[in-house]
Amino acid sequence: MGYGFFLSAILLSALPVHAQSAPHSGIHPEDMDATCKPCTDFWRYVNGGWVDKNPIPADKRSWGSFEILRSANRERIRTLLDTAEGDRSAIAGSDRRKMGDLYTSCMDGAAIEAHGLRPVQSDFDRIAAIKTVDELGAVLSFLQRQGRPAGNQNGAVAGGFRLGAMPDPKQPRRIVARISERDSPGRAGSAILSLPDREYYFKDDERSKTIRSEFLVHVAKILVLSGTAQETAKEQAAGILKFETALAEAVLTIAAKRDPNGTYHLMDLSGLRELAPDFNWARLLREAGLPESTPVNVTEPELLKRFNRQLTAVPLGEWKVWLRWRTLQLMAPYLTRAVADEAYRFESGVLAGVQQQPPRWEACANVIDRDLSDVLGKAYVEKYFPAEAKRRMGELVENLRAAMREELEQSEWMSAATKKSALAKLAALKVKIGYADAWHSYTPVQIDRAKYFDNVRSAWANRFNTLMRRVGNAPDPNDWGMTPPTVNASANSSLLELVFPAGILQPPFFDMQAEDAANYGAIGAVIGHEIGHQFDDQGSKFDQTGTLKNWWTADDRAKFEQRASCVADQFNTLDVGDGLHHNGRQVLGEALGDLGGIAVAYRAYKKSLAGKPEPAAMDGFTADQRFFLAFGRIWGTVQRPDAMRLQINTDNHPLGRWRAIGTLQNFAPFHKAFQCKPGDAMVRPAAEQCKIW
Ligand SMILES: [Zn+2]
Repeated sequence: MGYGFFLSAILLSALPVHAQSAPHSGIHPEDMDATCKPCTDFWRYVNGGWVDKNPIPADKRSWGSFEILRSANRERIRTLLDTAEGDRSAIAGSDRRKMGDLYTSCMDGAAIEAHGLRPVQSDFDRIAAIKTVDELGAVLSFLQRQGRPAGNQNGAVAGGFRLGAMPDPKQPRRIVARISERDSPGRAGSAILSLPDREYYFKDDERSKTIRSEFLVHVAKILVLSGTAQETAKEQAAGILKFETALAEAVLTIAAKRDPNGTYHLMDLSGLRELAPDFNWARLLREAGLPESTPVNVTEPELLKRFNRQLTAVPLGEWKVWLRWRTLQLMAPYLTRAVADEAYRFESGVLAGVQQQPPRWEACANVIDRDLSDVLGKAYVEKYFPAEAKRRMGELVENLRAAMREELEQSEWMSAATKKSALAKLAALKVKIGYADAWHSYTPVQIDRAKYFDNVRSAWANRFNTLMRRVGNAPDPNDWGMTPPTVNASANSSLLELVFPAGILQPPFFDMQAEDAANYGAIGAVIGHEIGHQFDDQGSKFDQTGTLKNWWTADDRAKFEQRASCVADQFNTLDVGDGLHHNGRQVLGEALGDLGGIAVAYRAYKKSLAGKPEPAAMDGFTADQRFFLAFGRIWGTVQRPDAMRLQINTDNHPLGRWRAIGTLQNFAPFHKAFQCKPGDAMVRPAAEQCKIW
């Protein structure tokens, strides 16, 4: 998963006849910094002018190409929601009416305030009534079924683990149940940890200590807002941190979670009982609508053992305090202003350095996009995604696939047998562009204009039930994992998919009015990146059928690992500012995607020019230079220092700036295009230059 990246000369000839002007170069000299040499800091050279003139807005963690496009898409969503909200002619109970009503309920701050903390009272009552370990288990099972979402600034299930679903890595045509700590590594939404990741509980540098002490203050404040006395709240906060620290010890690191073999432990009920005998697994499955014979992949067995130890060793009173806290923490964005503000202060302010909250409608737009995705998605693509964009993108992806085929065929180190398998896998990749072929309906979701909290809960429960109904069946090709307005792209190794939502198919990534170099350098590199994921440290372990199975000869695998290590070492040592470094193994998949991506995009661009005269310079830049300028521009994004640290600690994507620099330091055609010399900062010493294929 991750940021992915489009276009061509062949495509330009297919421009509709009404296209009036010649394609533009995509270059914005005013955004560049001519005083910085391209071979010293290419990112700064391309983006420096923009960076200097565009401070990060007070309500954002970061600002740049991705965020600007996200903001523009959110404005469009707002227009769609305002229209839906005003459309009282929509049939009551229809999905369109639900969308307008959910938006109304989210924007109605007075009604939310008037409900106070009453929406969570029934959860509090359930928790307070627990008298035995078995009753605790029953409440934990109940909380799973609430299906609290991960992402969008709030967390996931409160309860020791998260019950989800996934394609069986060894048999990808069937969905199995999954028990995990969070949906996927490098994502928000732990079922266990209130802090962003395990290391936040153990690191003893000053910044980590400060965050823990701020966390204690934050927990106590929320508890006081829920009616707990000050002194009690302080004691409880300390107990909560201790409780989570004991669980955090057993959580895998993000890098370890990337290993598909290390996180594959398929078992049945007896296996679950062996790991955690004091929890009633049969009840959990039954209540989730799953047969007792359901195969379950436990991604982190050690964590379930620790969970069981906590069940029996920790007094029920401490569990109850923790569950009450987690309920407040996870539900805070949907509760009173005071609670929601305090949650925002800690999660975005303390952890990411954000100075103020975005306007209410932004949060509401995100909620509708998340909770009624297909209703909004359908309205979005009808209005904002031209059919021509989908067609052209399809051609471009195929051009990239053809370039990747050459890249693999011409690889000097791969044996014929491994090449054959790699080519078969490449040919098998399926491509999804824009939006799904069919839209899901939201019939079971109950929406009342006056009850925001009940509305989101109904949507979450529906999502959970839908997910559980998938278990035992083949994957639904219309489950995309990303909504149409999303400015991102992804790759799925089990499903052998490359996914490009409508949201990213716009400038500066994909521009139907721009010439080819600009599009190959931007969306082309995104496409190459997503293809690259199918062959990265993780994706390369899945074969041409999407099965987790080794298809490499031992010798080729060793060579691949060595090449991958080169990239991991590069990111381990790259100073990304303030003396900070990435964890090379944590960001390896993304960095491999970027390096493979630029190579295949560049090759595809060159292939598109075959048999044609060398394109003329535009705006003072050669075609090759324009290709790299477009690539540098998509990484024109800056972060607050705290947000930067948060990303380094919790995300498997390197910082945007270093995705541009780190990638190009290894890429000889870039060095040639800008006449960079050995010794320049943008050129890694020849012996250290990384190359994958
Ligand atoms: Zn990625």
